[in-house]
Amino acid sequence: MPTAEMFRNAEKTENGVLFKGFLLEPVVEQCNGCDRVREIEGEWYCSSYSKPASKWRNGSCNFATHLKANQGKGKDKVNPIKASKRAAGKK
Ligand code: SF4
Repeated sequence: MPTAEMFRNAEKTENGVLFKGFLLEPVVEQCNGCDRVREIEGEWYCSSYSKPASKWRNGSCNFATHLKANQGKGKDKVNPIKASKRAAGKK
């Protein structure tokens, strides 16, 4: 598969892939299905972050396109003040 168009100027070095001054690290397992994953000479990299693993270190990546369908379902935030007033009005 050819290298993604946006990574056309990427340069393979012995330390990894160098792109616009950043050393790119390959995507991690959690990135599977994300639209930002691009291919460079047979390996997969993120088009937004040079170190995808760090985006998943403290929870989900905030730029992941494959998680948006599940985000927010069943986790509606409750304003405690409004909830208190609602409860008080039901007496
Ligand atoms: S945007 Fe996040 S989930 Fe998507 S490829 Fe990059 S690091 Fe992975």
